[in-house]
Amino acid sequence: MAAALPICLLDGAFVPTQDARVSPFDRGFLFGDGVYEVIPCFNAKPFRLAAHLDRLQAGLDALQIANPHSRAQWTRLVHELIAANGGGDMGLYLEITRGAGSGRDFLPPPKLKPTVFGFCWPLAPARGADLERGISGATLDDIRWLRCDIKSVALLAPVLLRMESQRRGADEAILVRDGRLAEGSSSAVFIAKAGCIVSPPASHERLPSITRLVVVEALAALGLPLHEREVDRAELDDADEIWIASSTRDVMPVVQLDGRAVGSGKPGPLWRRAYDEVQAIKQRETR
Ligand code: PLP
Repeated sequence: MAAALPICLLDGAFVPTQDARVSPFDRGFLFGDGVYEVIPCFNAKPFRLAAHLDRLQAGLDALQIANPHSRAQWTRLVHELIAANGGGDMGLYLEITRGAGSGRDFLPPPKLKPTVFGFCWPLAPARGADLERGISGATLDDIRWLRCDIKSVALLAPVLLRMESQRRGADEAILVRDGRLAEGSSSAVFIAKAGCIVSPPASHERLPSITRLVVVEALAALGLPLHEREVDRAELDDADEIWIASSTRDVMPVVQLDGRAVGSGKPGPLWRRAYDEVQAIKQRETR
């Protein structure tokens, strides 16, 4: 990821990123007691902002944190943060923690003021040769907790999983729980076999990925049926195509899994059609 852009959002104010400070007693720092969002922005426009703000609200509800801003305020803050950093294509991060107390009680003190932090970084989606090259995956046991549907800032497990996948020379960890595909360490996963496209359905074991929904729409527009069902580990090994999807990495073909070629070892034809349609959707909504 590129370095943060110069202006960030801290508790309602736009401040130089290098000067931003939060209390060490913030519960996000002490407990990972908060939620976050990553919103891709193209041409200075946040893509699928409403869906991201809906998921942020769902996370706050799950943590029983009152949303510090109305929908209209969030929309204004997001657009102002993008403009303050010069527009263009960028990733935009928002984090809300329960706030800073005066000590370290597991039980939150009443009436804390949530901390709000946001920053941006330049986003350069993969193009041309990078896309043709595809990426590699390593299957790893899913060591995360049982509420992966919450976009929690407590991300130790995905950090360790990405470190392990990198040690194995892979670009993404493809997580397996109880012999079934969960998701990527920071992505949704699709597989294709004999022309049939499959992706596991929403559950507490997966983040409700917004890019995945865009792919679902793209497949529907293309008339390509999607089978939403659990995927066995063996199906991963046997797939013709594997794709990952996320806000910052788009829809990427996984051409190697655990050091072996996926299908032909090149990005597959179904991925190409889905990818092109997703780009068309993004183009329509943000140009
Ligand atoms: N699954 C996990 C665990 C993630 O962390 C992410 C994104 O970071 C995704 C899926 C993809 O979600 P989205 O498409 O909303 O970026």
